[in-house]
Amino acid sequence: MSDPILRVEDLYKSFGGLVAVDDASFEVERGTVVGLIGPNGAGKSTTFNLVTGFYDADGGTVELDGEDVTDLPPEARATRGMIRTFQISRELTGMTVRQNVRLGGQDHDGENVVQALAGTASDREAEIADRSEEILKQLELWDLRDEYAGNLSGGQRKLLELGRALMADPDVLLLDEPMAGVNPSLSDEIIEMIEEMKRNGLTVLIVEHDIDMIMDISDTVVGMHQGRVLTSGSPEEVQNDDDLLEAYLGG
Ligand code: ADP
Ligand code: MG
Repeated sequence: MSDPILRVEDLYKSFGGLVAVDDASFEVERGTVVGLIGPNGAGKSTTFNLVTGFYDADGGTVELDGEDVTDLPPEARATRGMIRTFQISRELTGMTVRQNVRLGGQDHDGENVVQALAGTASDREAEIADRSEEILKQLELWDLRDEYAGNLSGGQRKLLELGRALMADPDVLLLDEPMAGVNPSLSDEIIEMIEEMKRNGLTVLIVEHDIDMIMDISDTVVGMHQGRVLTSGSPEEVQNDDDLLEAYLGG
């Protein structure tokens, strides 16, 4: 019955004396959307960085599709299908929307499924062009394809970050606060995109301040506080968890 694509067990990380992630354990079922919530400082972003390999864990394990990836660098986890979004960096703001998405398929270590599928360089070029067009249309960024990324609104940039990540053809997509600074009209679009990704079989792990959005979109919600996983379950279960409510109220 259970088919976790991601298993996090007893993950531990401290910065100096401060324990940011304290023996956190949770699983992400294949093809589901899992929301990671908790008050500021709960350890959500650190957990993300440990899961994706941007931080080294002091203890515990991360298993991706049955393989222990705890000691693998981020690029190796990316080639195994675990992709996260990144803020559009300063250099990338000077490139167009389309160039950004096309590069999204290449920026890990030059290897990805798009490239592996096609044989010759021109085949690869064509494959990348097709896929980037598809993604841009899906995200309703096609009309903005020749615009510089630096000229986009906050919400449009979030969509572009999503597009770059999708170009890498992830199995598991990690989103850290995809709704931050996004106005309501575009936030609906991002929600729709995540729902569509899920229909396409993608697994999504998402950290988001907007609790309503998380409760709306997630199959499972994991609640953290002071580095620990306090609770996990359906949105209904987690919403009524007294310990988590107290953690939020207590700040
Ligand atoms: P969240 O994303 O849930 O708000 P974080 O994972 O960012 O929480 O932070 C958890 C705790 O770890 C906080 O107390 C934060 O100040 C601390 N922390 C996070 N990153 C670092 C770092 N690079 N160096 C030192 N302390 C950090
Ligand atoms: Mg954070």
